[in-house]
Amino acid sequence: MSLPLVAVVGRPNVGKSTFVNRLADSNDAIVHEMRGVTRDRSYHQALWNGFHFRLVDTGGIEMGSDDSFQSSIREQAFCATEQADLVIFIVDGTVGIQQDDQEVARLLQRANKPVLLVVNKLDNPSDESALWEFYSLGLPEVFAISSLHGHGTGDLLDEVVKQLKSLPCDTTNTPEEEGINIAIIGRPNAGKSSLANKLVGKERSIVANIAGTTRDAIDTHIVHDGTAYTIVDTAGLRRKSQIDESVEYYGFVRAMRAIDRADVALLVIDSTLGLTDQDQRVARFALDRGCALIVVLNKWDIVGDAQAKEDVRTLIKDRLMFVGYAPVIALSALTGKNLQNIWAHINHAYQNYTGSIPTNKLNVWLEDIRHFGHTISSGKSILRLKYITQTGTCPPVFTLFANRPDLVDDNYERYLENRMREQFDLEGTPVRFKFKKKD
Ligand code: GDP
Ligand code: GDP
Repeated sequence: MSLPLVAVVGRPNVGKSTFVNRLADSNDAIVHEMRGVTRDRSYHQALWNGFHFRLVDTGGIEMGSDDSFQSSIREQAFCATEQADLVIFIVDGTVGIQQDDQEVARLLQRANKPVLLVVNKLDNPSDESALWEFYSLGLPEVFAISSLHGHGTGDLLDEVVKQLKSLPCDTTNTPEEEGINIAIIGRPNAGKSSLANKLVGKERSIVANIAGTTRDAIDTHIVHDGTAYTIVDTAGLRRKSQIDESVEYYGFVRAMRAIDRADVALLVIDSTLGLTDQDQRVARFALDRGCALIVVLNKWDIVGDAQAKEDVRTLIKDRLMFVGYAPVIALSALTGKNLQNIWAHINHAYQNYTGSIPTNKLNVWLEDIRHFGHTISSGKSILRLKYITQTGTCPPVFTLFANRPDLVDDNYERYLENRMREQFDLEGTPVRFKFKKKD
């Protein structure tokens, strides 16, 4: 089950992140950052009095012109109210009510959600005079706290938990498993939302819909064949009614954020249009970021005859040579043809992305390279690779010890990677090499 979500909203500098970090410091409340922390929001899991819930901190709104600032405040508050089960609205007790506070308060009042007004920075618990003016914001429940010193936060959390416990949606209260994070990326109209909807819609065991507090962050948790998956950043699922993704740039930024959090990225390509520069850029970003990658040739149902299909495959292979490890799967998100195969590809890529190859096997392979592989030299020195071991996962990192690591160039590294891929199953995942000196 999905844990209840508490949104922390308020103007910049009122102490939202201090408040959230305060919980992280306390022994009673355990807060840890979940994956997917980006500049403008961070998700945390929190535990208070044995009760689990999620917190989203919507801090870090950038100050733009007055207008854009106002609208981002409004948007933040609006989304938070829409998606959260409870809203903690923080104001700064040392500066009194600001116009933006009033604006937010009005929005929150209109929404049909419990709101706790929290007057922060009241560092002296005996002096609550600053508190009273905030009652005029018209929110019935007002708490005085000092995030810095911790006064009042316990009472506040008691109230948070009390209210969350009374929610109808809460049943088991167990922290959810994110499982394998999947990003669905690609240019507008490639079929991302169709694919996401099909992947989600087919599952009868939808666990939860987690909604972020900005319009471009909507994660979906599903379980397929006993494995948990999170489809990250699936704004596309709702896009038709809510979001206009006409700006190509915005789509690209969104894709980058989603990739940032993904274990496996699905690059969706409109097979009737071939491959765009943006597709290449996104693929390169996935490579740099190091997540696993699967290329989805979508709209396969309308590509044409066998020759046309062959041509598309050849084109993709050529233009995505730099991510040649990514399996290419042709399907139709519309008809659902070949769609079920995607799960096996995701699992396989994930397995390779997280997997480890035993050192003895690697060194048997290296032995072969030493005897039959290319040699590389400079003057009288010859590169000698002595030993190899895997030193990282997600993606796999291999460290090679050599007499002259400086002799290794890109070509040689590519050569090693290709040879390694011939020997070991690394389909779907990028790999990294490190070279260290050892005489
Ligand atoms: P955010 O932008 O809303 O996340 O605000 P921050 O958490 O970054 O806090 C802004 C500033 O207020 C920081 O300098 C904090 O140290 C300070 N601050 C936060 N909470 C308190 C508090 O309870 N008392 C005092 N005196 N300062 C605080
Ligand atoms: P997004 O912008 O990447 O999310 O793309 P959509 O999922 O909204 O799809 C764009 C259009 O392509 C819609 O009209 C879909 O019905 C259509 N479409 C998506 N997948 C397929 C497919 O596999 N075959 C065909 N023929 N049309 C598709």
